[in-house]
Amino acid sequence: MAPIPGSGLAKGLAVTLRTMTKKSVTDQYPDTQPDLPPRTRGVIGLFEENCTVCMLCARECPDWCIYIDSHKETVPAATPGGRERSRNVLDRFAIDFSLCMYCGICIEVCPFDALFWSPEFEYAETDIRDLTHERDKLREWMWTVPAPPALDPGAEEPKELAAARKTAEKLAATQATDTAAPPPAPSAGSEPHADEQARAAESPTRPAGESKQQTDQPRQEGRE
Ligand code: SF4
Ligand code: SF4
Repeated sequence: MAPIPGSGLAKGLAVTLRTMTKKSVTDQYPDTQPDLPPRTRGVIGLFEENCTVCMLCARECPDWCIYIDSHKETVPAATPGGRERSRNVLDRFAIDFSLCMYCGICIEVCPFDALFWSPEFEYAETDIRDLTHERDKLREWMWTVPAPPALDPGAEEPKELAAARKTAEKLAATQATDTAAPPPAPSAGSEPHADEQARAAESPTRPAGESKQQTDQPRQEGRE
């Protein structure tokens, strides 16, 4: 059947009218920042205090775009006669984001929670070589990582939280015991008590801060 003349135009106008009445989904970036989901895979942040330089992330990365350098340091024995220990010290941690495919394997395999997804995405560069970011930059991105979502009701408390809570309770109990305990008796040579000062004022022969035994001693010596 031959098409009706002008039907194409009518269809096009219908589409235009339908679209005009719908709410616009275009964000006027960069004037308007996009409203991203909190778990957006924007960039990888490094919490270097947690990194033990185990190299697992670099070994598992399918793109081999994580570069880690380290050296060993000897830690002296904690107790006399104990053994010295050696530990890895991080010298370099860099990720080449021109190669990274945002698979998240490095974050998944890190056994020490040192890598996190950040929703930060504004790190485009004009030179591809500038997309290799070093540990300082990765550390800065760490502060843009959102807090973890709340636990499900009735979920088991994470062991880190339980340990921190126990330590805080123990500390509070110790502080409470210290404040409840009576103040220690003044030792020889310390400031005399207010009562003792009053007694000393009444008795001109016993100076404040001098005990009865001390003042009696010369009298006994005198008798002998
Ligand atoms: S997200 Fe994937 S590709 Fe990117 S650094 Fe991690 S493991 Fe490598
Ligand atoms: S897996 Fe984690 S702890 Fe091991 S080197 Fe990578 S970031 Fe550091």
